[in-house]
Amino acid sequence: MTAPSWTAGVRAGVSDSTGTGLRDCNACAGETQAVQEVRALLADIPDPEIPAISITELGIVREVHADRVVITPTYTGCPATLYIEQSVRAALDGAGFAHVRIETTLSPPWSSDWISDEGREKLRAYGIAPPPKGAGAASLNNDAPAQCPRCGSLNTEELSRFGSTPCKALWRCLACAEPFDRFKCH
Ligand SMILES: [Zn+2]
Repeated sequence: MTAPSWTAGVRAGVSDSTGTGLRDCNACAGETQAVQEVRALLADIPDPEIPAISITELGIVREVHADRVVITPTYTGCPATLYIEQSVRAALDGAGFAHVRIETTLSPPWSSDWISDEGREKLRAYGIAPPPKGAGAASLNNDAPAQCPRCGSLNTEELSRFGSTPCKALWRCLACAEPFDRFKCH
């Protein structure tokens, strides 16, 4: 596995005289290099249920600070929530950020609107119909037909509210006859 490009150079120039690794960087206004490095770490953590998309692209990562990261699980009942926290912890510890706390906030609740455009495209490419943007409430009710991620047809039907995981519903495309998952967590 190739090391992500950010590992090279990022550490260079970070003064670590406090032992925290969190000194301000003169070269980058606003965010410290440490914060940027933590962001990059989080952007590399795959969602446990949909490995094609990162927890950052899913909108689970809400805030990154020098001393803490704030995450909002997609849905409190998700068995993946604990796993995500453990993955974040392991990534932080492994990169020398053991002092960075993980805070979980449920307010405001995670919204599928927080999935980035790139994340939506990855879901589609993975064969999962992404929720329509700006329609969190509508996707919750599942009234609007899901678009088939394979052929793009809207001629689809829901087979089951619960697909392979609680966060996905099982749909079928009537045009190409393929079943597919629809991301439905609100
Ligand atoms: Zn189709």
